[in-house]
Formats: sequence, structure tokens, C-alpha cells
Amino acid sequence: MDTNKKRLLTGDRPTGRLHLGNYFGSIINRVKLQDQYACFFMIADLHMLTTDFDRTQDIKENILSIAIDWISSGINPEKSVFFIQSKVPAHSFMHLIFSMLVSVPRLERIPTLKDKVKESRFSDENAYSYGLLGYPVLQAADILAYKASVVPVGEDQISHVELTREIARRFNYTYGEVFPEPRAILSETSRVPGIDGINVKMSKSLNNEISLSHSFKEVRDRVMKMVTDPAKIRLTDRGHPQVCTVFSFYNILAAPELIDQVKYECENGQIGCVACKERLSELVNRLIEPIREKRFELERNPSGVWDILHEGTKNAIFTSNKTVSEMISKMKLNY
Ligand code: SF4
Repeated sequence: MDTNKKRLLTGDRPTGRLHLGNYFGSIINRVKLQDQYACFFMIADLHMLTTDFDRTQDIKENILSIAIDWISSGINPEKSVFFIQSKVPAHSFMHLIFSMLVSVPRLERIPTLKDKVKESRFSDENAYSYGLLGYPVLQAADILAYKASVVPVGEDQISHVELTREIARRFNYTYGEVFPEPRAILSETSRVPGIDGINVKMSKSLNNEISLSHSFKEVRDRVMKMVTDPAKIRLTDRGHPQVCTVFSFYNILAAPELIDQVKYECENGQIGCVACKERLSELVNRLIEPIREKRFELERNPSGVWDILHEGTKNAIFTSNKTVSEMISKMKLNY
């Protein structure tokens, strides 16, 4: 890793295999960013507990799977640090210290809280846990442990980076200068719909995803199930691509000439939906094929992937411990 570059922190919760929504939403952006920044890529297993505290049985397998997906998609562990959040003590320590620097009403005003509560395992939406309320504080610890200058986020996460900046200022003002204020960079991403409709987000929990590890046949089957324009029944019917899920995938995946061609053929009743889907499934399979092959190779050597994670975690511990030492010294807790 080039230590002269600015640092970047981002990561994924270990919820399972990554899908096209993750690929176009963040992974391809990370592949570009890894050359511009010193990147710390975190597998956020502690964040997983904020909503799914009682579902820990798959976390270990999902950690391995995410690391395999990252590498197979082109994120290079020789350029960047891959690490497991819960194995780096600084995150928990800093989370605790930072929780003294932020008020409960401030956290209650975070716009994403309601969605998080819905996703969580708490049946009563007014009885969510202290840990769930504090997850943006844990994110502040994740970012500031590495003094990351930049954090790639979607629109909905901007408020979390703003909170991180407030916490950094509050710490620096109270105890002395330790933290830079990180900057959110909006990811240049495409929002990928689920196979069940253009207004539904792709998500494993909704079983509407095409995962990076799906087989050739699974990809084809899922594309064939995609929701199309209900008004186009026969090949010669004039369709409306703007309401069709298949067309939204062309918009994300295909070259501009092909997008124009599909639009023309659909609107003029020159193609049927089955043929249109067949062509899309070939496109998706062509994209996924090299990822699937690399995945297959890595799955045969899981200990090699764990070694990468353990090595990266050592690096993350080393870097974040330096931050903790500075904090302890400024706080006059160095006894
Ligand atoms: S022809 Fe293609 S773009 Fe048009 S409605 Fe059918 S699947 Fe959608």
C-alpha cells in the first residue's frame, strides 16, 4: 500500500454473496478508487450485529464469501487493506469514547434510523437497542480509526459522514487535535433494480437478485423471470421500455448502440420479450463469467483468502492502534 496517498475507508456487512446491485453500486467504483487512495476495505461484522444480533451462524462463511467476491471482481489485496472489523480492538474502544461526545437526540434525528429499525430484529419500532441507535457512532469510529480523508457513500449515508465530522471536531476541541475531518465522496453508481420490478432495489433478502456467483443457468433463469411491460404481449405489440426491468438492465450493462437498438425494436414491435431477455442473459453472463471463474479458483483455496484477511487485519490493528495511542495521550489517560 502506498502510504503517501490519502486514506479511504469503506466496506460491506457480511450478509451473503454480493450481487449485481453491489457490483454496480460500489464494487466497480472501488476498483477505480484503489489506485487513487490508500484504501481500507472493512468487512463490517459488528455492524451486522446492530440489526441481526441473534443471527450469527452464517457470519463466518459470509466474511469469506465477501472477500472472495471482492478479489474476483478486481479489488486487489496487494494494493489495499482487507480487514475484519471485530478483530480490530480500536473500533470498539473508539465507539465507546465517541458515544460520550454525541447526544441521544442527535442520533435520533439521523434520517436512516427508521429504515434501520425496520430492517432490524426488533418487533417494536420504539424499542430498538442502544447498539442500533449508536451504529453511526460506530461508523465514525471505523472512519476515524484510520484517519480516513475520504469516504465513498450513497446519498443516504451523507448524514453519517456529517456526524463523523462533528465527532472529530468535538474530540479535537475537547482534548486536542487528533482527527482530520473526512469528506464524503458520492459514488458514481447506478441503481440496479431487482428482477421483480424497476422500482424495487436488488436485495438478497427479497430474493430478487442476480448474484456474482450464480451459474450460467441461474442467471438465465432469473433474467427470464424479469418483469416486462405488461402491455407487450405479442412480438408485434409496441412496447414501453421505460417501464421494463429488462430494459433498465440494458441501460446499465449495454453499449449505447445496443441500448438504442433495443429501444427501437421494442417500441416498434420488432422484437419479442423472450428474445430480448435471451440477449440480456448473454450480456449478464459475459460480465459475470470471469468473476465466476476467479471465484471458483479462490473457493478451492479458502485458507489463502483467510490469510489475506488476517494479514490485512494485522495492518489495520497496527494503523488504528497509533490513532488510539494519540487519543489516549491527548485525553491524559496514559497511565
Ligand atoms: S421487448 Fe425487451 S424492452 Fe421491450 S418490453 Fe419486452 S423485454 Fe422489455
